[in-house]
Amino acid sequence: MPPPSTAPSGVVESLVHRLVSRRVTVREVEPVGDAFRLVTLVGEDLENRRWIPGDMIQIGFAGLAGRAYTPLSFDLRTGSTTFLGYVHGHGIASSWLASATIGEQLFLVGPRSALGLDAVNRPMLFFGDETSFGTAAAIRATPEGTRDVALWFEVESAEASRIALERICVTNGVTLTTREPQDRHLDRIESDITRALRAAPQARCVFTGKAPSIQRLYRAVRRAGISAKQVINVAYWAPGRKGFSGVQR
Ligand SMILES: Cc1cc2nc3c(=O)[nH]c(=O)nc-3n(C[C@H](O)[C@H](O)[C@H](O)COP(=O)(O)OP(=O)(O)OC[C@H]3O[C@@H](n4cnc5c(N)ncnc54)[C@H](O)[C@@H]3O)c2cc1C
Repeated sequence: MPPPSTAPSGVVESLVHRLVSRRVTVREVEPVGDAFRLVTLVGEDLENRRWIPGDMIQIGFAGLAGRAYTPLSFDLRTGSTTFLGYVHGHGIASSWLASATIGEQLFLVGPRSALGLDAVNRPMLFFGDETSFGTAAAIRATPEGTRDVALWFEVESAEASRIALERICVTNGVTLTTREPQDRHLDRIESDITRALRAAPQARCVFTGKAPSIQRLYRAVRRAGISAKQVINVAYWAPGRKGFSGVQR
C-alpha cells in the first residue's frame, strides 16, 4: 500500500479553504472525560447539504489548512452536525477542542467525501482509534445500520474510551485494545481480524485512524488472501505529520 498522503499544505490550501468555507456556530460542547469533546455546529449554510455517513468536515483555524472531523450525525433540516473530537494534546485543533465555547464562530468546509460507509457490504470489519469513534457511530446511519459490524480500536486509555463510546452509543461488537510499546498490541488485533476473515472471507475491511497501524493491518489481510477491493483505508493521522485530509485507497 502506498504511504497515505496529505493534502497540499500551506498557503494554497488555506486560501482554497477560505473561498469554499461556510460560517458555522458552536451550539454545544460537551466534555466527555478529559480526552473527548462532543461538539455540535449549526449554520444556515449547512441546511440541505448532501451528507453520506463517513464524510468529513474540515474546520479552519487562523489561516491554516482545515482539520478533518467525521460527523456522527447530520441534521440537514436544521443545518446542524455533531462530531466527537479527540483531545490528543499535540495540535491546534486539539487545543481548540479543549477550550471550545458555545457561540464561537468557525469556518467549515464540507461535508466532503472521505469514506463512503453507505457502500460497504456486510460483514464489516472496522478498525480505528480514538479519532474513529465518530466514524463508527456514523455506521448507524447507513442503510444496513450496525448489522454484522465488528469494531476494533487501539486506544491510549480503555476506560476513557469506553466512556466516550458509551456516550455516543457505540457498544455492540466493540473490542478495545490498549496501545503497547513497539505496537505489540497490534498482534492481537491482527490475529482477531484475520480469524474473522477466515470465517467470512467475503467480509469488507474498513481501516481508519493511525497510518502505520492501518498499513500493517492492510499487509496482514492481503497476506491472508483478501483482495485489495475488499479493503478501504483512510488514514486520519500519522505521527509527526500535520493536518491529514483523508485519502481513500
Ligand atoms: C477524514 C478524517 C476524519 C477524521 N475524523 C476525526 C474525528 O471524527 N475525530 C477526531 O478526533 N479526529 C478525526 N480526524 C483526525 C484529526 O483530523 C487529526 O487528529 C488532526 O491531526 C487533528 O489536528 P491537530 O491540529 O490537533 O493536529 P495536527 O496539527 O494535524 O498535528 C500535530 C501533531 O499531532 C499529532 N497527532 C494528530 N492526531 C493525533 C492523535 N490522534 N494522537 C496523537 N497525536 C496526534 C500529529 O502527528 C502531529 O505530530 C480525522 C481525520 C481525517 C483525515
